[in-house]
Amino acid sequence: MDVPFLSLRDVNARYADELKAAAARVIDSGWYVMGEELGAFEREFAAYCGVAHAVGVGNGLDALSLILRGYKELGALRDGDEVIVPANTFIATLLAITANQLVPVLVEPDADTFNLDPERVESAIGPRTRALMPVHLYGQLADMDALSAIAQRHGLLVIEDAAQAHGASLGERRAGALGDAAGFSFFPAKNLGALGDGGAVVTRNPELAARVLALRNYGSEVKYQHLYQGCNSRLDEIQAAMLRVKLAHLDHEVAMRRQVARHYREGIRHAHIVLPQVADESRHAWHLFVVRCGARDALQQHLRAHGVQSQVHYPVPPHRQPAYASLSGLQLPITEQLHDEVLSLPMGPAMNEEAIRRVIDACNAFERAP
Ligand SMILES: *Cc1c(COP(=O)(O)O)cnc(C)c1O
Repeated sequence: MDVPFLSLRDVNARYADELKAAAARVIDSGWYVMGEELGAFEREFAAYCGVAHAVGVGNGLDALSLILRGYKELGALRDGDEVIVPANTFIATLLAITANQLVPVLVEPDADTFNLDPERVESAIGPRTRALMPVHLYGQLADMDALSAIAQRHGLLVIEDAAQAHGASLGERRAGALGDAAGFSFFPAKNLGALGDGGAVVTRNPELAARVLALRNYGSEVKYQHLYQGCNSRLDEIQAAMLRVKLAHLDHEVAMRRQVARHYREGIRHAHIVLPQVADESRHAWHLFVVRCGARDALQQHLRAHGVQSQVHYPVPPHRQPAYASLSGLQLPITEQLHDEVLSLPMGPAMNEEAIRRVIDACNAFERAP
């Protein structure tokens, strides 16, 4: 049998009894949207992140989008303002920006960490720049000390795309507490995954939290009174109940991911496979374990032949997507090279030693084609 890239069945099987009990509790309650489970999860997730407010929403894209929309309602962002993002991010980061009539400014990452390069950020700041949107890509925190210092000097908002970084921490502070606001995704494959779609906005800012609370529910604070042209993006009771179960196990799961990463980093020894660079263990929650290889496609094929699944995150950068044809003229050589070289190895909290060993052996047995 293949080593799967990620078996969600194995991930959730360990909590099956708890998950079924939680689902039964919701079914029996007769209340399915905007109820006690959501309120309880929001309190628990805010406490986990170490911030005052968490607002459950429909998915991670909406979380990012509603943060920007909330800042627009507060007057902190206006149409045409620029938001700096890493050029090698998942498309959702850009979609949140352009959906709000804001302008994404793509900045090249540091090739070792895959995250925003603070020096390049500083030189990309112009008169219309209003926000930085660092992405903690693959689960590793961006250089938030440097980015926060830049933001402070230039009076910019810092909005974390924390969709891959649940459980990563910088000293005592966790992902979600490192900027002005953060968007999380609870897509099933994320570090904290629901059994369907889900997301959350977390922030210390009570005004922003109040706007997002209203915006997710038709722009309404009081039923049938509409302050804003909002949307319907709510985290339902079943998913909130699933997430409460999974949140209690998150730290353990992140520890398991770190163990898999440690084995890989100790065991994979190959002249053509570049292992991920880690600034500090606690800063990486290992959503993905991403190696680089100049012969990436051959490596992936080799692994497949040895029964090891792998994936590419991501094969085409946003500025090369048809959806962003307007950005196709950009020269982003580091980003383009990374997209040609990255390969994600199997990673998850339920991997056993044999599977880890098989991945390591398959990598070490790779013979680069002449
Ligand atoms: C998954 C992800 C999102 C979007 O989350 P969804 O819940 O799928 O909408 C946004 N940004 C990044 C970096 C992601 O990995």
